[in-house]
Formats: sequence, structure tokens, C-alpha cells
Amino acid sequence: MTDKIFVTRPFLPPVEEYLAYVKKIYETGILTGQAVSGPLGQELERRLSSFLKVENFQIVTNGTIALQFALKALGIESGEVITTPFTYVATTSSILWERCKPVFVDIEPDNFTLDPAKIEAAITPETKAIMPVHVFGYACDVDAIQKIADKHGLKVIYDAAHAFGSVYKGKSLTSYGDVSTLSFQATKIFHTAEGGACICRDRAVHERLDQAKHFGLNGTEHVCLGINGKQEEFNAALGLAVFDHMNEIFEARKHICAVYDELLKNKVQRPKPQKDLIFNHAYYPILFENEKELLAAFDRWNKADIFPRRYFHPSLTELPYLTEKFDCPVSKDVSSRIVSMPLYVGMTDDDVERVCKEI
Ligand SMILES: *Cc1c(COP(=O)(O)O)cnc(C)c1O
Repeated sequence: MTDKIFVTRPFLPPVEEYLAYVKKIYETGILTGQAVSGPLGQELERRLSSFLKVENFQIVTNGTIALQFALKALGIESGEVITTPFTYVATTSSILWERCKPVFVDIEPDNFTLDPAKIEAAITPETKAIMPVHVFGYACDVDAIQKIADKHGLKVIYDAAHAFGSVYKGKSLTSYGDVSTLSFQATKIFHTAEGGACICRDRAVHERLDQAKHFGLNGTEHVCLGINGKQEEFNAALGLAVFDHMNEIFEARKHICAVYDELLKNKVQRPKPQKDLIFNHAYYPILFENEKELLAAFDRWNKADIFPRRYFHPSLTELPYLTEKFDCPVSKDVSSRIVSMPLYVGMTDDDVERVCKEI
């Protein structure tokens, strides 16, 4: 009997370390905030923004609401948002939920991020923003995208849910765009079980967002239409306990990726990330020749109790609740034959070998 290997496993810090933070909650009696975050939430915000070297950083309930807040705080309440179909469904659904229309543009074959060469053809008088994704922790062509946005007066919102810890051209990958959003959901590289964050270029946008997530309150005054988008203190306590292990998390994942690299050398197609990128090792995607070979590998894996995932499949151009058809052949092709390999802290070299043996 062998252990099951899943695509991921949430990192759990030693329980005593989590409880040491929880004890602080019991001491202050503050479980959450109303118009400002609680003390642990504030401490986590300080530590994360200093780690990422970004200003105007704030934690919110999750990565999906972070994207919705970004649209709201930038004043985008209608019109078209150019985005990628090769991502998790939340990127697209947040646009729809904010009553805007997602307009899909195809991805680059090398690193699966939005292809800047195809953006301008999709711009119409209704276009308000571009929402690219640093998918798997690889960097979008941020300079080319910003140039297009400036030329056409568009906002840029990066879904940076995968980008925590990636550094591009000497800066955190989360520091680009008008707003950059993170997810701290349990399977992400840094997590708070559920959580997310927004990083805003402008202080004014940051402040609008801060009020919006606290019911539209400024102190006790009602200043704008808000919602409840804040994180409570137990999530922050878990986040602090996880963050204490951040170096170990990055190192462990880097090592596992190096073992994969060694075992899969010249056997599978791999993405080609940018030269200027320090990668966070958030994911280890591989490409099969075609979907048939992928499905055959899944058969072998599942028989051996190994459960990688088809990230991302299908291409979101296929979402059943979208009426308009978009032609994004690269995204469609990549989604049909890409697999995200198991990768988590605690995975052993033997586990990696077991996974690779079936390819
Ligand atoms: C995880 C994820 C989200 C959603 O984040 P939640 O915190 O789960 O709401 C959004 N976009 C991408 C690319 C993601 O991977």
C-alpha cells in the first residue's frame, strides 16, 4: 500500500506555533475588526508588504473579492475587460460579477501569459481595462502591456494569485499594474486558509478600497457604498504562523522542482519563462504531445494512486454561461495537453520519482 500523492497539500505550521498566535486573540478578545483590521491582521499586512517591498498593500477576504475590489476601486462598473482564457475561473467570473464583459485574447505559447501582440486588435471604444494573469508564477510582458494601456487610456489589473515570491526585473511581480491582486487560499504558496490581497499603485485607490472593504466606513462615518471584505483574526493568525516558515517553503518547492527537472529532462515539453524572472516555484506544469497521451498518463497515475491536475482545463472560452464565442487557439491547445504536477512541502524525492516513472 503506497500513500496517495495529490497535486497539492496545504502547508500546515506546527500547531503550537499557530496556537501561540491564537492565544493573542484570546488575550485581546479581538476576533475581527469593523472599520479597521484587528492587530494580527495589521501585523500580517506589515510583514507581507515589507517582504514583497510594496506599498499600499491590504488584505481582503479572498482572491476573488480582491479582483472585484480592484475593478470597483478603479471605477470600472461597465464595459469590456480584456483578459486571458488560460486561468482559474475566478478571473473571468469576477469581471462578469462586476457587470463587465470579459473579452478573451490568446496567450503566448512559451509561458502561457496574455499575448501583448494580440491585445490591440481586441480594443474597442468600450474597453476599460486589461486583466492579465501571471499564470503559474511566470511574468506577463508587463512593459508591453503597460505601453498599450497608456496609449489607449486603459487600467491594468494583474491577477497575481500565483505570483507571491516571484521577482521580475528586480521587483516583486506583484508590484506591477494599477492594482495587483493575490490569493491566500489554502493551496497557494503562501496562505491563510482563505484570504487575498490588493496592491494599489495610487494611494487614493488604496484608500477607496480600504473603505469599501469595511462597509464604506471611515471611522463611524458612512462615506461610500461598501461591502464586508475584511479578513478575521484567526485567518491572520494562521497566516502569521505560515509566514514564519516562508523561506523553508520556497526552498522545499525549489528542491522538488529541481528533482523534476532532472528526472524529466528531454522527456516532456516545458514552459520557457523570461530571463529576468526569479521564479517562486508555485507550480510545475508539463505539456504532453497531445490530449490522448495526457489521458493515458492520467490512467497510469490514477492506478498508482497519483492525482495530478489538469490546470487549466478547459480554456475559459468554453465556459457554458458565456454567450459570445472567442477564438483562442493557443489557449485551447495548451489546455488540452497541460498537467500541473504534484508539488507541496513534504513531498519526498521518492514521491517525485514515483510520479515521473509513469511518464
Ligand atoms: C486561486 C485563484 C483565484 C481565486 O482566489 P481565491 O482566494 O480562491 O478566491 C483567482 N485567480 C487565480 C489565477 C487563482 O489561481
